[in-house]
Amino acid sequence: MRVRHILAAAPLLLGACGNKQDAEKIYYYEVKGETCEDVKQWISNPEHMLNYPGESKAYVGYATTFIGYECDFQVIPQNTGSNCCTTKPDNIDTYCKATTYLPQWDGNDKCWDRLMDRLKAHEQRHASIGCSYAGRLENALSVLESTACSAESIIDACINATDELDKKIDEIFSGIIHELRSAHSAYDAETSHGKTQGTVLDCNCE
Ligand SMILES: [Zn+2]
Repeated sequence: MRVRHILAAAPLLLGACGNKQDAEKIYYYEVKGETCEDVKQWISNPEHMLNYPGESKAYVGYATTFIGYECDFQVIPQNTGSNCCTTKPDNIDTYCKATTYLPQWDGNDKCWDRLMDRLKAHEQRHASIGCSYAGRLENALSVLESTACSAESIIDACINATDELDKKIDEIFSGIIHELRSAHSAYDAETSHGKTQGTVLDCNCE
């Protein structure tokens, strides 16, 4: 099957697919209480907070970003008398999906509104940090290529070159994901998870 793909240079789907129209989503969870102080207590209870996937710590809000890609393999057999073949990614398409989870309270309080503005700004910044890595991924993929030669046949060479390219793409992707995670952690360390930006509810706000 692989050979057929290569000979026909048919699109080979490498990444998971996302829905671009659905790129940014915000989900709200309901917060209970009559007054600002009630709400303050409610949201400071870890049982009411959100667990970030894979972490035991609970948060009042959080954002996740998912970057993905699709590309075809361009397969270029070299007609130089030797069985060599070059492959590179073609029609690279990267995308980002950001999802934000935030509290929602139906009460009316300016201090709550202020908290929400600041919380949203903090999470939105996470979303834009994460999504900036989709562009970096595209740049990194666009310069990749792989060449292999084979004593057996040109098809063999093309299969090997494609396998190698596949591995390089995986490495690039893992590297970018690692950088993305570090960037989120750095932003949270810098802002103390938003606290220095005022993401703590102060019911006596002016
Ligand atoms: Zn954060």
